Amino acid sequence: MNIVMFGPPAAGKGTQAKKLVTERSLIQLSTGDMLRAAKKSGSELGLQVAGIMDRGELVSDEIVIALIEEQLDMNPNAKGFIFDGFPRTVAQAEALDGLMEKHNIKVDSVIRLCVDDEALVKRITKRFEEEGRKDDNPESFKVRLNAYNTQTAPLLPYYSAQGKLTEVNGMADIGAVSASIAQVLDKNGNGADVSASAPKKGFFARLFGG
Ligand code: AMP
Repeated sequence: MNIVMFGPPAAGKGTQAKKLVTERSLIQLSTGDMLRAAKKSGSELGLQVAGIMDRGELVSDEIVIALIEEQLDMNPNAKGFIFDGFPRTVAQAEALDGLMEKHNIKVDSVIRLCVDDEALVKRITKRFEEEGRKDDNPESFKVRLNAYNTQTAPLLPYYSAQGKLTEVNGMADIGAVSASIAQVLDKNGNGADVSASAPKKGFFARLFGG
C-alpha cells in the first residue's frame, strides 16, 4: 500500500506518517526531512537549497524527484511507502506516477488532512517558539502557505479524478486523526472518492493582508 499524505504545512502529515510507519511497517519518504538533512550536513545540495527553504519557497521539481527516485530504487522490497510532503506540484505528481510504474507499484490512497488557516498559524507559531525552525517564522510561513495554495492545491483535482482522494478532519486530536486514517485505509485501499474543495484562505489573508 502506497499512501500520499497531503495537506498544508503544519497539517500533521509528518506525525501521521510516523504513526503509519510503526503501525503498518511502511517506509516514510519525507522530502522535507531529506532536504533538512542535506542542509544540516552542509553538502552541495544542502547549500543549494538552504536559502530557498528558509524563505519558504519550493525547491525545484528536479531535485525532489531525484531524491524520491533514489529512495524507490534503494528499497525494492518495501511493503509500501508513505509520501510526506511530496508531491507538491502537478509535475512532481506526474513524475511520481512514472516512477511508480517503473517499479510496478502505484499510489493507492491520497489522504488530505484538512486544517483551517487559523489553526495552522497557531500551530506554527507554537512550533517556532519551541523549535525555532527558520521557515516557521511568520514571513516564511506566509510564503509556504501561499506555495501550498497556488502550487500544491491544484493536485487535489488530479488525485480526485483518479478516485484516490479522501479528506480527513485534521483539526481533531492526533489519535482521532489516525483513527480516521486507519478507517479509510482499512475500508478501501483506494480510498473514497471526494471532489476536492478549495483551500480556505480567509483567516490567513486577514492576518497577513495577502
Ligand atoms: P516540509 O517539511 O515538508 O514542510 O518541507 C520544508 C521545505 O522543504 C519546504 O518549504 C520546501 O522548501 C522544501 N520541500 C520539501 N518538500 C518539497 C517538495 N516536494 N517540493 C519542493 N520543495 C519541497
